Amino acid sequence: MKNSVVLGFVFGLLTACVSDKSAPSSTQEYPAGEIVNAINNSDKSLDKPYVILVSIDGFRYDYAQRYGAENLLSFDAKATKMIPSFPSKTFPNHYTLVTGLYPGHNGLVSNEFYNPELNELYQISNRAVVENGAYYKGTPLWVLAHQNQMVSASMFWVGSEAKIQGVYPTYHFKYNGSVSYDKRVNQTIKWLQMPEKTRPHLITLYFSITDDVGHDFGPDSPEIELAVKSIDATIGTLLEKISALNLPVNVIVVSDHGMVEVRRDSVIYPEDFIPAGTTVSKSFPLMVYSDDSVFIDSMYTSLSTDTSMYHTYLKSDLPPRFHYRATDPRVGELVVMPKPNFTFGEHSSPKKEGSSTHGYDPADCPNMGAVFFASGPAFIHNSKIDSFENVDVYPLVSHILKIEYEADSIDGSISSLQKILK
Ligand code: AMP
Ligand code: ZN
Ligand code: ZN
Repeated sequence: MKNSVVLGFVFGLLTACVSDKSAPSSTQEYPAGEIVNAINNSDKSLDKPYVILVSIDGFRYDYAQRYGAENLLSFDAKATKMIPSFPSKTFPNHYTLVTGLYPGHNGLVSNEFYNPELNELYQISNRAVVENGAYYKGTPLWVLAHQNQMVSASMFWVGSEAKIQGVYPTYHFKYNGSVSYDKRVNQTIKWLQMPEKTRPHLITLYFSITDDVGHDFGPDSPEIELAVKSIDATIGTLLEKISALNLPVNVIVVSDHGMVEVRRDSVIYPEDFIPAGTTVSKSFPLMVYSDDSVFIDSMYTSLSTDTSMYHTYLKSDLPPRFHYRATDPRVGELVVMPKPNFTFGEHSSPKKEGSSTHGYDPADCPNMGAVFFASGPAFIHNSKIDSFENVDVYPLVSHILKIEYEADSIDGSISSLQKILK
């Protein structure tokens, strides 16, 4: 592909919303989000630091070094890799980052799953389920902030559009992928310029460019290189604007997972072996839901004979590293995971050549590795840690904001991150 076309594609992604009629014009002030739980910071919260938790979707652990993301590489603290939780999909991992709970414990066992209690499929494209608080377990950081009378805000994050324990982030938006990245950054800065009583101490910020471009062009493409450089420039702008504010702001940049190329001859077609009418979730992992134990046993027997392209697990015999509970109704009776580079498809919509994906068992696929960069008064300059699990981000953020969480009720721990903290 010609470079100008590539540039046009990436630029188009970044500026898509400029002409979007639902978005305010650039001269109009962008609204500070719907205020649902209008709280002010308590006197105790006023003196606390600030944390901006930034997610760059699908930013693989090696992209910054490989494609020269200078702004990210100059952050105070870095990790070799941040290990995503199983399955390495977007929704489960974003919700893990803000709850400290593995997907098997936080309610979002995958991007798509069947919920027998409500007799419906949870799917990320279905607004009704995405905004239904009944799906989300744990205490997200913004709920914890609220409980500590601390104002929070979200420029998009999984879970922020649902009322969880009766609470939304103090300021939040419904997800709209076409809002330009400039607007997202400017909104973040506007929040930090608010009077201290109403100024959020916790802000989440989300960008999808590396996931979008990674899926279409792959982790080795010139397109992903441009996407990495472009989001790195956005992070540079964010840091510059923050430094002009003279506030104790900590910026933590993470991603949810990596990306790996799949070949067209590596596509598995579940419709070839799962009878029509069976309740299944099609994303990674593919899960089969049925009360009919004879049916499940016979499917298991036939599927487990082939281990060249995928692994088939019985719900009662799942590897502990998945952290799925055998009693969880959202987990299917059969769990089928493709091996790295293999993927599921449908005969009616062939995969594009060069397409890439994620969702694999992180223990089986190092390329699912995510990133962690952190800068600000809480972090030691030029510090580095080895790989750690993304459940540890929650206790880190709580620690910086000086808000208490129940250590026994989460899966993460701050111990892996002590080395980078002042
Ligand atoms: P996937 O690659 O299927 O795991 O999902 C990534 C996609 O999730 C991105 O392209 C985003 O557009 C989308 N996404 C991220 N956050 C949200 C949200 N809060 N609501 C709906 N879609 C979202
Ligand atoms: Zn993602
Ligand atoms: Zn994706």
